[in-house]
Amino acid sequence: MIISGKELSSKLKTDMRDEVSTFTEKYGRVPHLVVILVGDDPASVSYVTGKAKASEFVGIRNTTIRKPETISEDELLELIRRLNADDSVDGILVQLPLPEHISEAKVIETIDKSKDVDGFHPLNVAALWQKQPCTLPCTPKGIIKMLKAAGVEIKGKRAVVIGRSNIVGLPVAKLLLDENATVTIAHSRTADLPAVTREADILVVAIGKPRFVTADMVSEGAAVIDVGVNRDPETGKLCGDVDFADIEPKASVITPVPGGVGPMTISCLMENTIECFLRKTASR
Ligand code: NAP
Repeated sequence: MIISGKELSSKLKTDMRDEVSTFTEKYGRVPHLVVILVGDDPASVSYVTGKAKASEFVGIRNTTIRKPETISEDELLELIRRLNADDSVDGILVQLPLPEHISEAKVIETIDKSKDVDGFHPLNVAALWQKQPCTLPCTPKGIIKMLKAAGVEIKGKRAVVIGRSNIVGLPVAKLLLDENATVTIAHSRTADLPAVTREADILVVAIGKPRFVTADMVSEGAAVIDVGVNRDPETGKLCGDVDFADIEPKASVITPVPGGVGPMTISCLMENTIECFLRKTASR
């Protein structure tokens, strides 16, 4: 079974749109997401456009602030501080990656934790690992939703996550652990990776290498989640980290690229923006 992130995301966004349509009457306004884009990298422009479109669909106010590649780190941090202080702003997202002269860590730390819709702030990360209330990072949150929507039992299963980035691999592993899977995290130094991945009932791949995972690395009936977004070196088309055509007949469920994890990440961003808005409203 192919898990369509596009379809699931569309359903979630429709439900959110219904919820948000009641907000003006209940709270006097709708949630407001500010997205900052530095430079004009085509992939980043396309991600930011996708976020603006999803906001428009859901009924969330979206402001996209574009800054030139030459903006200094101080100027960018000052802009974030102004948005932190702006009571009309509920969520702040700075599109990554940033130019080399700007520290991503400083940018992430400067965003107020209560407006950190990406869930990247160190206090949100710490809260996640301590099982405290927090904003869950969008991609890992979307992955768990997809597995559940597809009816995949996570409890008691062996999950293998390839990749240990702060943005995907580590938080996905933590969320799977919280769902009571037994989790192995594999990485570039893992010895005999195929032997490890063949043990997986649930295999999450977040590497960033086109069609890296081949059919011999996957056990019959595994649930396979492909997070990778790559350009196929031959066709130039988007493809995942998983050899979809070869693995699909073996997997019990599998996500496509495009149309899998990507759309779920955006709908979880919408959900996080609404959560930040409601937390602020409730704390008044
Ligand atoms: P990253 O920070 O570059 O991390 C890549 C991970 O893959 C690292 O942990 C690395 O191991 C591991 N790795 C690299 N080569 C390997 C190998 N040969 N064998 C085993 N592990 C290997 O990347 P990321 O930010 O996590 O993103 C991963 C992919 O997901 C990218 O394609 C990215 O575009 C995509 N992504 C998609 C979404 C979405 O919404 N769909 C969101 C975020 C990211 P080491 O730690 O040992 O170096």
